[in-house]
Amino acid sequence: MDWQQVFATRMGRMKASEIRELLKLLDQPDIISFAGGIPDPALFPSDAFQRAFARIFAEGRAEAALQYSVSEGYLPLRQWLAGQMAALGVPCGAQNILITSGSQQALDYLGKLMLSPGDTALVGWPTYLGALGAFNAYEPRYDRLDPGANRSAADYANAATATGGRVKFAYTSADFANPTGRTLDRAARESLLDMADALDCAVIEDAAYQALRFDGDSVPPILALELARNGTIEDCRTLYCGSFSKTLAPGLRVGWVCGAAEVIGRLVLMKQAADLHSATLNQMVIAEVAGEMFDAHVTTIRAAYRERRDAMLAVLDREMPHGVDWTRPEGGMFVWLTLPEGADGAALLARSLQTEKVAFVPGSAFFADGSGGNTIRLSFSHSPPEVIERGIAALGRLLRGSLGG
Ligand code: PMP
Repeated sequence: MDWQQVFATRMGRMKASEIRELLKLLDQPDIISFAGGIPDPALFPSDAFQRAFARIFAEGRAEAALQYSVSEGYLPLRQWLAGQMAALGVPCGAQNILITSGSQQALDYLGKLMLSPGDTALVGWPTYLGALGAFNAYEPRYDRLDPGANRSAADYANAATATGGRVKFAYTSADFANPTGRTLDRAARESLLDMADALDCAVIEDAAYQALRFDGDSVPPILALELARNGTIEDCRTLYCGSFSKTLAPGLRVGWVCGAAEVIGRLVLMKQAADLHSATLNQMVIAEVAGEMFDAHVTTIRAAYRERRDAMLAVLDREMPHGVDWTRPEGGMFVWLTLPEGADGAALLARSLQTEKVAFVPGSAFFADGSGGNTIRLSFSHSPPEVIERGIAALGRLLRGSLGG
């Protein structure tokens, strides 16, 4: 069978990257990995989950937990989330929230909802690799969202028309972004809203890391700033994508979208068509554990990740040669390194795996145009401080050897 003949054109945009192939090597036990942006499983609230599962089964709720349920999501969880959103400056009701299977599914659905082939998605340069992966299936054109570049809305709109579409949305991971660790300040969020107003396009606010602030002042979500302008969420163009993956546990695959009920209603139709609903039991257990200990648990993991961030920054300060720059994130899981112009992050990874047994992600994977060859992403979430010190010291050695200094 010649499968190429039967694959849809969209599959042409869905390729395994060379980097993913390289990262398969990570299964070796002696590798220190700064590659995966994943929580440390030692920090999962496993006991609380065990108790919650037991309670659901002991209290006669097993039938509901094992049954089909509504596409919108488990109502007590949506109500709890509405309370959380209100605390973030987004007063709303359960009708403004759809539960998704991780926020990754929300990105897929929002791409499906808005992008026709040739339409434009504005994304950061770099941006979350998984967002590009989700949107690619809908064959968009990407344009560079760069708050500092002073490009006019008309410029973006004209460039979009050239490929036969229009700008449908701006996607941004506004807090402790993956991959840079950077946070958009209030002024940048306001000007993004101004730009979206001028383009009459949606804003996708990816808040996967929102709860993981270690220090500095918190910045209101873009959706909260827009709501303050409009008075009601129903007039807002921002769609906020949240996740329990970085706070409680990613394996349960529970995330949410919060936005205007009109859009949530469309997404519910999409969810019905795609997978009917997210796992009932997982939503129930997340609602139990979140209700019991969300704030306390987030306080615990923030402290652990802060210590790891501090360890990584301290050893970077000490070990990196002249000419290497990096971000100093106020939260999240990532530090972003920029090497001198012409350095090759992918070649460095190959060498690093071979000689130092240290892994990271070459930055070019996060650029829609494949640029950024001289950047790399380091995640500090997965290893304890002493391992971070050893790994970064080894990376520093390698870089001093290859860059000099
Ligand atoms: N957005 C960002 C910025 C992420 O880093 C991730 C996970 N790596 C996701 C969304 C998806 O997470 P999940 O589907 O587990 O909620």
